[in-house]
Amino acid sequence: MASSKTGCTIVDLSGLKMDKLVCLTLDLEQDYGELLDEPCYEGLEHIPSIVNFFRERGIPLTCFVQGSLFETHPAQIEELCTLDVDFELHSYSHPSPKLSNTEFEVEKGKEAYKRFFGKDPVGYRAPLCVINSKDYETLASHGFKFDSSICPSMRPGVFNNFSKPATPYLVDNPRTVEFPLTVLSNIIRIPMGLSYINLLGKSYLRLLKLFPLPNLMIVDFHLHDLFGLSSSNRIPLRKLPFIYRSIFRRIYQARNGKGLDTLDEFITILCNRGYSFSKLIDIYEVISKEHLLGTEAYEQSEIGRLERSCK
Ligand SMILES: [Zn+2]
Repeated sequence: MASSKTGCTIVDLSGLKMDKLVCLTLDLEQDYGELLDEPCYEGLEHIPSIVNFFRERGIPLTCFVQGSLFETHPAQIEELCTLDVDFELHSYSHPSPKLSNTEFEVEKGKEAYKRFFGKDPVGYRAPLCVINSKDYETLASHGFKFDSSICPSMRPGVFNNFSKPATPYLVDNPRTVEFPLTVLSNIIRIPMGLSYINLLGKSYLRLLKLFPLPNLMIVDFHLHDLFGLSSSNRIPLRKLPFIYRSIFRRIYQARNGKGLDTLDEFITILCNRGYSFSKLIDIYEVISKEHLLGTEAYEQSEIGRLERSCK
């Protein structure tokens, strides 16, 4: 392990059996997160398409679930359970970070998760990638072992994480593993998420065919990145700063329903570049052994699952 300038400890990934791994992570949440005045759930109607897509390709998935969906949409989550999925928590109600009560979101979300699965979640992702040191303490006090909230880039008015590491690291106090979302490189910090691919278009995909990419990639997407939803018309654009009005119009309201094709193209590029697919829990279990974070979790792990390759 090594310390970075930020005081974080960069985790040792040498225990990972495969050289190149990607974790596809779906944030399963209400349409457009916190953007709508009233929650809509049209995206969840497309779960059967997601299930078919991942089943056909035999690719594992990590799913960060908005906790309230365990209560309002259990049948859709049951459908996802037929896939090779690691389910983790994505708050309870997906509030705007400015209005969020993290203790409430974590506690109530964890309760809903446990009622559904009969066990506690291990990982967490905060809405809009906004998390602070007190939130990490809250997560640790509720038994969470890893987090994947940090986008080591910048979103004007929301977060500036340019000083954060772009590879997994230990949050010093408490010892939680942070899995940052992948950016193009440590210098060029363009996120790899599907919303950015949708925003930047084919030229970004062409770049991904050639550019040197990190060995471990954590990529996020949402149902509203994949499917054109009529609820996009309810995004109150007039309330938003100009920059977001034009961005959201482009990535959400101009969707042509080809999001799954874009995801397929992205996956094909990664396969051609020699990447295998894994789940965040499997990566965590290897790391926890390397850093002696929890040998019990490691003993129960199946490292062989990391060898799952794209066929
Ligand atoms: Zn979200």
